Amino acid sequence: MKTIGLIGGMSWESTQFYYRHINQGVKKRLGGLHSAQLLLYSVDFEPIEALQQAGDWDAAAEIISSAARSLEAGGADFFLICTNTMHRVAEAVAQSVDIPLLHIADATAEVLKAEKINRIGLLGTAFTMEHAFYRDRLTDAYGIEVVVPDTRDRKIVHDIIYQELCLGAVKPASKDKYLQIIDKLALQGAEGVILGCTEICLLVEQADTPVRLFDTTAIHANQAVNAAIGD
Ligand code: GLU
Repeated sequence: MKTIGLIGGMSWESTQFYYRHINQGVKKRLGGLHSAQLLLYSVDFEPIEALQQAGDWDAAAEIISSAARSLEAGGADFFLICTNTMHRVAEAVAQSVDIPLLHIADATAEVLKAEKINRIGLLGTAFTMEHAFYRDRLTDAYGIEVVVPDTRDRKIVHDIIYQELCLGAVKPASKDKYLQIIDKLALQGAEGVILGCTEICLLVEQADTPVRLFDTTAIHANQAVNAAIGD
């Protein structure tokens, strides 16, 4: 089994799902007392969130790169950045080490392609929904068209992530708002919706809506299991 490196803490609320999903995946595949061989480097999120707000992505990249180098030195065979948003700096981080990065958008796109989805809704932070790094990767590398909520709804989705979900607060009113926004994306022709923030699974699950949901936390963790023990 390969050793998985995780860069977590963004937020820790979602990192715990990675740990759980990966171990459940290994147990399911190998049985018995098997569990994942992994290293977790969990960062302090507050200064990173401040750098996001300030638009200082180079400084944020340096923090994440330093974590990646620690994982490499510790023996990780490959690594994951356990947040969609921080893939804004994925290229710089990947270049700072020799071990491969398992990119969350690639992991998600592969599932979408297998499901023959060509037009997908995307929920996430404003950075993920608005900056090119995520949407363009899905479109340019995989030919998947991406639909995002309008300006007002993007702010609602973004604020709930940072003001509630990253703090572990799960509110029924916020869930209703998310479900309404998911419905609107489906009305715009989205064949499903990417939960493109690793905390959204705290709030919304497939049983809540007939619209197909693609939870990046579960997908990314599952791909890590495949990469560690083979498909
Ligand atoms: N975990 C979130 C994501 O997947 C948001 C927190 C962050 O800014 O990294 O995008």
